[in-house]
Amino acid sequence: MSTENFETIAIRTQTDRSQHKEHSSPIYLTSSYKFDDAEEMRALFANEKEGNVYSRYSNPNTSELIEKMALLEGSESGWATATGMAAVFTTFAAFLKNGDHVISSRSVFGSTHQLLSNIFPKWGVSFSYADLDKPADWETLIQANTKMIFVETPSNPGIDIIDLAFLGDLARRHDLLLVIDNCFATPYLQQPLKFGAHLSIHSATKYIDGQGRTLGGIILGTHKLIAEIEAFARHSGPAMSPFNAWILSKSLETLAVRMDRHCDNALKVATYLENHPKIKLVKYPFLASHPQFEIAKKQMRAGGGIVTVVVDGGAEGAGKFMDGLKMFSISANLADTRSIATHPATSTHSKLTEAQRLEVGIEQGSVRLSIGLEHIDDILADIEQALA
Ligand SMILES: *Cc1c(COP(=O)(O)O)cnc(C)c1O
Repeated sequence: MSTENFETIAIRTQTDRSQHKEHSSPIYLTSSYKFDDAEEMRALFANEKEGNVYSRYSNPNTSELIEKMALLEGSESGWATATGMAAVFTTFAAFLKNGDHVISSRSVFGSTHQLLSNIFPKWGVSFSYADLDKPADWETLIQANTKMIFVETPSNPGIDIIDLAFLGDLARRHDLLLVIDNCFATPYLQQPLKFGAHLSIHSATKYIDGQGRTLGGIILGTHKLIAEIEAFARHSGPAMSPFNAWILSKSLETLAVRMDRHCDNALKVATYLENHPKIKLVKYPFLASHPQFEIAKKQMRAGGGIVTVVVDGGAEGAGKFMDGLKMFSISANLADTRSIATHPATSTHSKLTEAQRLEVGIEQGSVRLSIGLEHIDDILADIEQALA
């Protein structure tokens, strides 16, 4: 069926079920595939014919998930990995070589920071950090050996936003590969390739699953770029399991309705907290007080499900608030049906020094709230009593 509507694509894109006519896609738990004859085996290995050879390369479940995600994100092709970090690592490893330089947003996921600062330097890849809220700095950091710009927007947990059209233009003028970690937005809220990004990466563990069950990662881009990802991933083996791909493809069927509710609930929470005397600061992309509100409105459909606040009283204030929450879970995960509170300074970003944390807007009083799908009255009531 030919449609451009997100919800219909997410529900009606399925693998061929002509054999048994199942209504819901089955799981293909198979490590390998049969060939009709020796000639077919040869042709498949020679890439003269398309088809499944081995599940480290492809599987009907991962193919369904990739096809769906590519349609939703507006990309030609994609590749699925076991985790979001495997997607980030695979992207770096496929495109960066000894001597190359990466410019990244300072505010990136903790493990991405570890890759850039501790792991890739061993292989001669260097990096510079730029601030999302200072676009003028980005051009000055470009060196002769700069190969890639890697950015998270909205960022975790600072919720800073950068203008994707600006980055797309910068990457084009300097012939750099622009890679966006689109995890917080999902293809429903933001489609970076439309703004000139070359690759969009997701931790499918977050909103793509959205129910806290499974790990996964996805890389989306042109056939040409995904062929380079494939050339690395086929042999290094970060493949997603068919079972996880089946879960994630099913989850995509409800992504639009889930995201609409996450965003509605989060905007209500952000608006409530903005007027609360015990809250020093609220960061949410679709609050008019957000420094990049105008940019957020230009490139995102809605503000997402994450609200970051700074509670009065520093670490002690944050601890009291979190311990006072009765319904919210204290967990390091996010993007779940269940509302979650995290203290970034002592968990996800504890490996950073205090100075590094302050540079990315994480104070001792910062609390990241992942707003779930419980009834909004119960979410607000829990926050209200915890702050009282
Ligand atoms: C969680 C996360 C990742 C890593 O994903 P995993 O599935 O946990 O490996 C990468 N980027 C962002 C923005 C994330 O939130």
